[in-house]
Amino acid sequence: MALVVLWLALLAAPAAARAAPNHSDAVVHPQVCLLKAEPGMTPAALWQTPDRFDCSGPQTRKGPGDFWVLLRGFSIRNSAVEPMQLRWGSTWQQRVQIYTVRADGSVATTGFRSDTTSPYIELGAFISVPLPTADSPIVGILVHIGGAANQRGVMLTPSIEQVSRGAGRTLALAAAYSAFGGLGIALIVYNLMLWSALRLRFLIDYCAMVGTTLFYGVSSSGALAWLLPWIDNNDRLRLNYLLLALVGICAMTFVRHFFEPNVLPPRLHRLIKASCALVFATGLGFTLFAPHAIAPLDRAFAFAIVAMLCTLPVVIYYAWRARSRYLALFLLAWSAPILFAALRTAHGLGFIAHSFWLDNSTVGAMMIEALISSLVVAHRIDTLTKERDRARQSAIEASALADTDPLTGLLNRRAFLREAVRAGSNGRGQRLVLIDIDHFKRINDRFGHDAGDEVLRRVATILDDSAELPAARLGGEEFGLLSPSGPGAVDPEALLTRARNATMPNNARVTLSIGIAEGCIANEADWQRLYRRADIALYRSKQSGRDRCCMWTEMLGDEAA
Ligand code: GH3
Ligand code: MG
Ligand code: MG
Repeated sequence: MALVVLWLALLAAPAAARAAPNHSDAVVHPQVCLLKAEPGMTPAALWQTPDRFDCSGPQTRKGPGDFWVLLRGFSIRNSAVEPMQLRWGSTWQQRVQIYTVRADGSVATTGFRSDTTSPYIELGAFISVPLPTADSPIVGILVHIGGAANQRGVMLTPSIEQVSRGAGRTLALAAAYSAFGGLGIALIVYNLMLWSALRLRFLIDYCAMVGTTLFYGVSSSGALAWLLPWIDNNDRLRLNYLLLALVGICAMTFVRHFFEPNVLPPRLHRLIKASCALVFATGLGFTLFAPHAIAPLDRAFAFAIVAMLCTLPVVIYYAWRARSRYLALFLLAWSAPILFAALRTAHGLGFIAHSFWLDNSTVGAMMIEALISSLVVAHRIDTLTKERDRARQSAIEASALADTDPLTGLLNRRAFLREAVRAGSNGRGQRLVLIDIDHFKRINDRFGHDAGDEVLRRVATILDDSAELPAARLGGEEFGLLSPSGPGAVDPEALLTRARNATMPNNARVTLSIGIAEGCIANEADWQRLYRRADIALYRSKQSGRDRCCMWTEMLGDEAA
């Protein structure tokens, strides 16, 4: 949000300056007249014959080549106190020679080539050349431009303004670009971390998209000329095409992987890939082959971008048809960059005029998109996390269900064995208590199966309250309890008493027979031995009249055998 406000503030700033009544703040927008250069033309002669220049119609009509540009219709004082500069949009040109004509008839000359342009590059990809100071006012400027590609114009929106005004604008733009840069780097780091945890493909696409946008921002804003002062300005323009192609490809790859699987049909994936290949081929073509066939290459690149943008409504249609949960957020995040990409392409194709803000819109729009997309990514991760938590919860519930006896809620035999081996792993002796309800068949027979079930549940409650570990139902009306042996071990007499005194359905009288064995349980074999012994003791309890407890001893074992 802060970025949007900053961007809007920057949009408003030059307008405010333009409206300022103070004369020295005023920006001069001179009349621009064009003449195709021919051998033998001199600035002095051309200044005397302004009628030879064409001051109407689009500059692009004249095609590529060498030109003379006449700027006139003004008179400005250029003092050392408030020096002025000539400023125009950076475009493909080999050589520039500026002849400043003063009222006293004197002419001052300055110039540069495309490989010495860097000192004159202003943030926002404008060229700003300080005008020579003198007492006599400047009444006109002749500019000789060699090797102009003229795919957008020979001299884009030239203006004359105070040097200090440009410095203020550069400072504001630098602040905006720094904010975008910082935001971009933070988003990349944050999404890389997310990717390392979640391994979601679109997070990597997202980082690539933000990364290429940052590189494109550095190059297209002209900041690259500051970082690499030796760079040829035309090479920087070539690089812009390749980087813009990469931004588009990364963005479309992100779009392809952003929606739920199966939202976009394979056909559409292929179509987007083909449009990306076209954008890459034309972008690379310009980068490698310019200045040859600049106009057709530039046009081909613009059409490839149009083709790529045309796949977006199809993506949106399929996402809408599949009722994608992410469509609304996608539209929110992407409408600005799509709009700006469309506007820039319209400019590229000559439908709308050059503008400073349009030139610098891509990075701003992409960063706003990156910020909103980051919220979208966070939303997707939130959804995925909730899905994962639900899956984890149902896995826990499923495993609990698999371990539980449905009638009594106690552990089943399998889970009891697992818990017993786990409890025995600390090396302490264990007491295994097997409990069998006496003459349970009779309860079923007299009061019915439902009453029998209720008796099972009530006995289960008595047992569950009597040991450290959960009690288990081992089969029909047989239960198991486990506790450490020695002090704190399950007291069988207490169990017998509680069963005798418990209130049962139909006032049925319930007694238990108990068999106990003690030993260590380190593995399943130990468990089976202990279980066998407790079972022998239980059998002994039944034999000796029920409603009692028997403990396994060596003697008892021998006897039973
Ligand atoms: P004893 O004292 O010798 O153990 O006699 P008993 O009748 O308890 O033992 P017996 O093995 O003869 O009968 C067990 C009965 O438990 C038979 C079966 O119908 C009943 N039973 C097993 N599972 C369930 C159950 O889930 N619900 C009910 N209501 N009865 C069950
Ligand atoms: Mg029984
Ligand atoms: Mg039994």
